[in-house]
Amino acid sequence: MSLKEFFARTWQWLRTNVKTHVVVTLLVFLATFSAFVYYWHGVRNGVQKDEHSAYERQVRILSTATETHLQLYESFLRGGAGLFTINRSLTQADWAQYFQPYNIPKQSPDIIGIGFVPYLTNAEVPAFLNNIRAQVPKYAIWPAGTRNVYAPVAYVATFTANTGKVVGFDGYTTAVRRAAMQASVMSGQPTMSGKITLVSAQVPDKSAFNLYLPVYRNGRPVQTATERQRALYGFVYVAVDIKAMVNALLAENPNSNFALQWYETAGNPKSAPVYQSGNFTSTAKQHGAITQAFPFTLYGHKWKVVLAASPGIISANERQLPALVLWRGFFVSAVLAGAVWLLTTSRERKLSRQKQLEVQDAKDDLLSLASHQLRTPATVVKQYVGMMLQGYGGKITRKQTGMLQNAYDSNERQLEVINQLLYVARLDAGRIALHKQKVDVGKLLQEACDEQAVEAKQRRQKLACKVPKRPLKVEADPQYFRMALDNLINNAIKYTPDKGSITASVRKLEGDALITITDTGIGIDEARQATIFEKFTRLEDELSSNVSGSGIGLYLTNQIVSLHGAHIEVTSSRSHGSSFTIRLPADPNIDLGRTSAYTKRRRPVN
Ligand code: ADP
Repeated sequence: MSLKEFFARTWQWLRTNVKTHVVVTLLVFLATFSAFVYYWHGVRNGVQKDEHSAYERQVRILSTATETHLQLYESFLRGGAGLFTINRSLTQADWAQYFQPYNIPKQSPDIIGIGFVPYLTNAEVPAFLNNIRAQVPKYAIWPAGTRNVYAPVAYVATFTANTGKVVGFDGYTTAVRRAAMQASVMSGQPTMSGKITLVSAQVPDKSAFNLYLPVYRNGRPVQTATERQRALYGFVYVAVDIKAMVNALLAENPNSNFALQWYETAGNPKSAPVYQSGNFTSTAKQHGAITQAFPFTLYGHKWKVVLAASPGIISANERQLPALVLWRGFFVSAVLAGAVWLLTTSRERKLSRQKQLEVQDAKDDLLSLASHQLRTPATVVKQYVGMMLQGYGGKITRKQTGMLQNAYDSNERQLEVINQLLYVARLDAGRIALHKQKVDVGKLLQEACDEQAVEAKQRRQKLACKVPKRPLKVEADPQYFRMALDNLINNAIKYTPDKGSITASVRKLEGDALITITDTGIGIDEARQATIFEKFTRLEDELSSNVSGSGIGLYLTNQIVSLHGAHIEVTSSRSHGSSFTIRLPADPNIDLGRTSAYTKRRRPVN
């Protein structure tokens, strides 16, 4: 299936299964929201770019600061080394004095000490000791032992409490320092050691490095590594506290959302970092954090830093912008879709109202068709058949009389159904306007009984009509209320077998008029009693199916009773007859009559 076909089918499906206003509202929402999603995408990319630029700016600041720091260390190294070109017989005091003006503890608190270590062969040690002990009588090289080469600390300008402890320490005995010293001779350049364990440190694992610069004997050639080795006099070194250095670097542009780890690359990759800023873990694990590793070489030594920036590196306002765009988009789309919904539904309501009116008009047409086109000819048929039965058309045989009687009865039923249909249509259209007046309900019931007495007689049924002696006045439309009573009595006759009895009565109860039609007929199942007042409902059982009917009578009756503000109830059980009761509400303005005594005005039924 091609994409075009897919969309066509989906559209078709939506059109058939979902209402138009729902589809339109949904489409408006989706279209608006999609536009916002597109916009959000751009904003989010912009924010991410800003995040990266902020990160890169931070990295640049860090690397510039590192360069500046290292240049400073180098300048101290070169200054110290320069001293030896003018004076070979320096003292510890001279050395310390030289660095005094730089105010190093204040200006560069990351420098632990700056010292000088002579490069000595075993044979040169006694003369060196002799010389230095003239200044520092207790001077000793440590660790003790006989070695080919020594590089003991001769002088040290101390900037932290314990730096002085390092005096006499032979750094050539440790692999890290020795390697850096040797490398600096090879290159003739300042050379950085790896992480060293400070001799002077009170905290043993304090991370530090030494930066060495070779000092040569005056006047010797130092072009090649061999020449430099031959001319080597010693080393000036700067000991740097890595933690203090990185803290100073980060302080150049403090940002709590930027953090770093500093690793030795030569060591075990899983070993602990040489330095880690306190906020590193919390920064790097944040959702959306940028974390990158940078290998780098400083004065010949290889290190690695891992730099992390959490999204907070840019302002909270900017960070929240994409979400804000999305929420606003959702809100605007919902409002727009809501407006479209209101517009389309009101339009649909208008259309459906129009449709209703059209249907109503069609019903009205049908009504007029039923009343004029059907009722009139049916009535004419009734008249002619009636006339023939009465002998106006000449003599007819017995057989013909029977046949005409059947035609007459059928025509009567037809007219009855047509009339009922007319009333139903009028009721549904709300076109029945009651003309209420004070009527004697007893009289109305009596008239209804009288009219149906012939039918009951034919069925050899006993039809009793019990009405109060005195008029029982109610507010009712005599025509319609009669129709309701007629229906009930007619049903009682229809659904009661031959020779059964029907009682129609009216009495006063608590000021209300209570009309009851009781029969000894086929009865109605309790479960189905609620349905019999619905339009076109007929109970389909073997007893009632023999009786002709349209299922409209009780619907009409109930509607008429309701229009009178009254209420109808049925009590019945299968095979034990039924009883329909109408209770017309008490109206204090109406004198219902004083009597509750009944006159048995039994009409000549049998
Ligand atoms: P119908 O034209 O079928 O009589 P109604 O609306 O008057 O229509 O009555 C609905 C149904 O209720 C009838 O078909 C019948 O099954 C049942 N019914 C009505 N009155 C009685 C009654 N007095 N006794 C038993 N069943 C009745």
